[in-house]
Amino acid sequence: MVHKENGKGAILVIGGGIAGITAAVEAAEVGYQVHLVEKEPFLGGRAVRINQYFPKLCPPTCGMEINFKRIKSNPLITVYTMAEVVEVTGPPGAYAAKVTLRPRYVNGNCTACGKCGEVCRTEIPDPFNYGMDRIKAAYLPHEMAFPMRYVLAPEVVRTDEGTRCQQACAYDAVDLAMVPRTIELRVASIIVATGWEPYDAARIDNLGFGTVANVISNVMMERLAAANGPTHGRITRPSDAKEVKNIAFCQCAGQRDENHLPFCSGVCCLASLKQANYVRQQYPDADVYIFYIDLRAMGRNEDFLTKIKGDEKVRLIKGKIAKVTEDPNTLDVIVEAESIAAGKIARVQVDMVVLATGMVPSTYRQKIPGEGARYDDDGFLLDSPGIYGAGCAKHPLDVASSVQDATGAALKAIQSAVGR
Ligand SMILES: Cc1cc2nc3c(=O)[nH]c(=O)nc-3n(C[C@H](O)[C@H](O)[C@H](O)COP(=O)(O)OP(=O)(O)OC[C@H]3O[C@@H](n4cnc5c(N)ncnc54)[C@H](O)[C@@H]3O)c2cc1C
Repeated sequence: MVHKENGKGAILVIGGGIAGITAAVEAAEVGYQVHLVEKEPFLGGRAVRINQYFPKLCPPTCGMEINFKRIKSNPLITVYTMAEVVEVTGPPGAYAAKVTLRPRYVNGNCTACGKCGEVCRTEIPDPFNYGMDRIKAAYLPHEMAFPMRYVLAPEVVRTDEGTRCQQACAYDAVDLAMVPRTIELRVASIIVATGWEPYDAARIDNLGFGTVANVISNVMMERLAAANGPTHGRITRPSDAKEVKNIAFCQCAGQRDENHLPFCSGVCCLASLKQANYVRQQYPDADVYIFYIDLRAMGRNEDFLTKIKGDEKVRLIKGKIAKVTEDPNTLDVIVEAESIAAGKIARVQVDMVVLATGMVPSTYRQKIPGEGARYDDDGFLLDSPGIYGAGCAKHPLDVASSVQDATGAALKAIQSAVGR
């Protein structure tokens, strides 16, 4: 498939999070053909799983909806979901990219009426909620999903269940004959906006993730607090759904540690301050302990830090957590840390612990195919002629900075595509 309009080469954007979406609309709105390739069944990336954005604490949908509208109304953008780039060949200015599209088993006729989900009995762990609950195998990824279209999990496709889902659909939208297919795109430049993955907290053996029932990670906390999350927004502890009367946050769970992530993820302090606020809003009597090495709040986000500091129920303790264990009778979590200010060991017993794990670039695990892409030692993308990073693929960033960064990446990609 060759797209070449008005003498301008096309741009391939890999990753449909806020950075990829921004780069796509910015480039398309000045007249460039854009192919936006996203591996999940929906656009929005990690940001749509956040309950509220700091610093304004607004829901992620507000900014996203405007972007989805811009995509829908722009014929120059082609969106491919459940899609991955499997091969890139050719020089800058004339790349050939092969993209494999996984079958969704639901076509464009879908109205998201939900009838297939109603008749489906098989359940799978909900990927949107990091597996904290289960959903039907015929599912809408989340209620604001773009595209607003169901997905059939492969496990039910060649079963009676798949046939039942197909028969329940009044719009002929369930297509059980779909198979993976590969297309080729000719593009002049590539924007890599593949974002980040949470650091695997189970690798930090002293912090109890995976062994202590009531230790969760910060991304899980976002889902627990969200109205469309596994507990419908009630922040309760996983072992017994008990309300949270006291909670500890462990900053730098892996970050700034040569054994795990040697860099600072930049947003985790603000995320924990925000999550402390979620808890305090829901439980006005709850005690919050935040253990930190340094509290970092970039730019005007300092105001947010100052606001949370003013809450006498939020205790900020400078000290790295040494040990997290479980009281076998109550399943409370016991946290021990060296309090630097007090010069002694601080020990608290809490209902729940949140590990503020950091951001690992997705390209650490999965590199962009071909010879052209370059990375730093931590796996973040480095710009090279014709291939440009955007958002957290390039460095840890908050949403606003990812948007700015992606706009810059769009400009670089446009410069490479002019006249190609
Ligand atoms: C706990 C926590 C809370 C946060 N809260 C806030 C907040 O309140 N406010 C704020 O401003 N920021 C917050 N952030 C930061 C925010 O999540 C990021 O700024 C944002 O996700 C960056 O967007 P992105 O598009 O660069 O990456 P992502 O959101 O990771 O999007 C990348 C996209 O690329 C796709 N992808 C990955 N690999 C491939 C591939 N090989 N092929 C195709 N597609 C691929 C992914 O599926 C995803 O859709 C928080 C971060 C954390 C850890």
